[in-house]
Amino acid sequence: MRGELARLAREGQRPTQLFLTCADSRVVTSMITSSGPGDLFVVRNVGNLVPPPGAESGDDSVAAAIEYAVDVLAVRSITVCGHSGCGAMQALLDAEPGGARTSLRRWLRHGRPSLERLGAPGGPAPRLTGRAVTDAAEELCLVNVVQQLEHLRAHESVARALKDESLELHGLYFHVGEAQAYLLTERDGRRVFDRVRAVDLAT
Ligand SMILES: [Zn+2]
Repeated sequence: MRGELARLAREGQRPTQLFLTCADSRVVTSMITSSGPGDLFVVRNVGNLVPPPGAESGDDSVAAAIEYAVDVLAVRSITVCGHSGCGAMQALLDAEPGGARTSLRRWLRHGRPSLERLGAPGGPAPRLTGRAVTDAAEELCLVNVVQQLEHLRAHESVARALKDESLELHGLYFHVGEAQAYLLTERDGRRVFDRVRAVDLAT
């Protein structure tokens, strides 16, 4: 590891992937993606949220990281990774109107479009391969990944790179208790989170 870090210090970072996930302590990015130093450019926040760009609702911290990863580091993919038992998703489900305007509550407004999507008619809900979705909280975790990918597409640098076909977007769901990752894909017009074999995770 010492030699690898010395090389990275000398040559600078050239990560190929931006990985955006929750701040939850049980989500260990290096374990989920079998990655080491220099592999991932990582953004973590409460609820793996991507505030839409511009307007006053935007968030410069997340937007700056996206812009830097895409325009400067020229990453080839961005992954939004949600996880089971996410406290942020539970808080969104449990939120009552009004109440104190804390930083946490203000931040969680970026998850509200996911909550609205959960209850909206049209478009079948995403499903998991291998088993049924457990409850509303798990469904919201999945829907939130889909929703945040949409917010990501709205960012100028991301839209440009997608148009140039120099960038791919991925959705991932990590189930903590199962130690299992699920990769978002689309089948017969329906969003499906497919179980990822451990060997796939390494790629
Ligand atoms: Zn979380």
